[in-house]
Amino acid sequence: MNPQPTDQVARVVSDSLVKWGRDPDHLLQHLIAVQHRCSFVPDEAVERLAAELGVTRSRIRAAVDFYAFLHERPRGDFDILFSDNITDRMVGSTCLMQRLCERLGVEPGVTRADGRVAVDFTSCTGMCDQAPAILVNGLAVTSLSPQRIDGIAELVEQGTPLGDWPSELFAVSDNIRRRGLLLSRSETEGAGLKRLLEEGPERALAQVERSGLRGRGGAGFSTAFKWRFCRESASVESYVVCNADEGEPGTFKDRVLLTSFADLVIEGMTICAGVVRARRGFIYLRGEYRYLIGHLESVLERRRAEGLLGGAILGKRGFDFDIQIHLGAGAYVCGEESALIESLEGKRGITRKRPPFPVTCGYKSHPTVVNNVETFLAAARIVELGGDWFRAQGTEQSRGSKVLSVSGDCASPGIYEYPFGTRVSQVLADCGAETPQAVQISGASGTTLSAAEFDRVIGFEDLPTAGSFMVLDQTRDLLDMVVNFAHFFAHESCGFCTPCRVGGALLRDLADKVAAGRACAQDLEEIRSIGGLMKKASHCGLGATAPNHLIDTLEKFPDVYRRRLRRSDYAPAFDLDAALSEARVLTGRTDAAAHLEEEG
Ligand code: SF4
Repeated sequence: MNPQPTDQVARVVSDSLVKWGRDPDHLLQHLIAVQHRCSFVPDEAVERLAAELGVTRSRIRAAVDFYAFLHERPRGDFDILFSDNITDRMVGSTCLMQRLCERLGVEPGVTRADGRVAVDFTSCTGMCDQAPAILVNGLAVTSLSPQRIDGIAELVEQGTPLGDWPSELFAVSDNIRRRGLLLSRSETEGAGLKRLLEEGPERALAQVERSGLRGRGGAGFSTAFKWRFCRESASVESYVVCNADEGEPGTFKDRVLLTSFADLVIEGMTICAGVVRARRGFIYLRGEYRYLIGHLESVLERRRAEGLLGGAILGKRGFDFDIQIHLGAGAYVCGEESALIESLEGKRGITRKRPPFPVTCGYKSHPTVVNNVETFLAAARIVELGGDWFRAQGTEQSRGSKVLSVSGDCASPGIYEYPFGTRVSQVLADCGAETPQAVQISGASGTTLSAAEFDRVIGFEDLPTAGSFMVLDQTRDLLDMVVNFAHFFAHESCGFCTPCRVGGALLRDLADKVAAGRACAQDLEEIRSIGGLMKKASHCGLGATAPNHLIDTLEKFPDVYRRRLRRSDYAPAFDLDAALSEARVLTGRTDAAAHLEEEG
């Protein structure tokens, strides 16, 4: 691809300015717009944005450097990214990527010389129930097969514009397999909002309190507490943010909730705004779900037309609230609420030091409620149907239901909703997992369960989860999962603190060493020690949970490691004998004495 002509870049930037304005908080949205139309962020765009937004070039370049979906160099007319969760690999994503690269004559990660195409990996794209999946210029293509890959290669070679590709390629299924408390009905007709206006915000808040609803993002903080803190703050300005940045590998429920239950999610945000007196809200949508923007915009527009959003909601003077969609750009850490707010403000998504928490000092330093997609959906129903309706299901500490994203080795991957307190074995039976060896619950940062633990229950008192439920059967080598997750965390570390930045890289290298059969017992000790340090000393949850899968599998599946160890007590990370191979070639030495002796 040739660098973009100046006038074209100028047009792209000026279009983006028309849409997003000159508030520097929208920097990331401008950069996404430029990336999308130019396939990279040219210097010319950096210069123009710096001048128009009044920010430094270095701030813009730092943002481009931080977000995985932004690039300083052209990515090609077709930028193809293979989702790289373990569930994609389990169904052959690496072979399909190799096939596509061969068909197109490209090397992974390198844009083809004619600028037509680039092929690379990216972290989990949230399509694990229809894996393997790719993103083509940001749009999801799922259920890949060799035939689909060949068809895509042909479309790329012919230069067919994406808009002319067969629409069935971009079909994404909901795959809802089990409906419970929340998913049994999707329509709302503003019922929760009407109750809010009839009975007042204190009563709505009391219902949320009564329900026992806890945040569905995994941490489980009381939703009513959050809303009350924000309501009682002295600030005249507050915000409501829907965290739709589900980047945890194996999680895809929010994708489905935003597809088929968007009205309820938006209603929950609007009710929250009515309680905390916010006038502005955001849906922070992960970049991988950009295909949902059109759908979400149309729901927002319809609700405005119906008087359920915008000025004087349902005719109530002074009840003004509207929502803007902000797109992420491929940074897992932005799922953490303070990093998400930094990102909303157009900065690198580095987690903030807490306290203060976003609920007292969030977006633009104002009180901000950040809740997960599922939490807002549940809140809308709770205000409509009452706290008792919700708390009737679940357990003492975990009221209501949980929506799970089930994937991996099972007959029916998809969305399952269960009352909290449901046993893992029940989920396995329902999804058709015949010979499960392990379940990875709550994503890469969660818990690895062995068969001995399948009677444990889903709930905050036992197995808290943001929703991911990945099944690995008896045929799987768990080290493949361990290596995949270790690479994921090393890649996603934002680099701010040393324990996570360095520790994550060391764990990745050690996982590779074990998988390659070069590790010894001391390396396993090293994994435990580095993992323990990361858990204690990391600045945010990403670093603190990154070693979980290694520590869990070391404890529960020791044989997986033991059978890969060399017999020696110590094996250096650096292979000196291999490093000397070039010297042997240069000196013409092929004899045994030119090699270092192998330990037996
Ligand atoms: Fe960044 Fe990792 Fe430190 Fe979190 S723990 S601040 S992701 S380096």
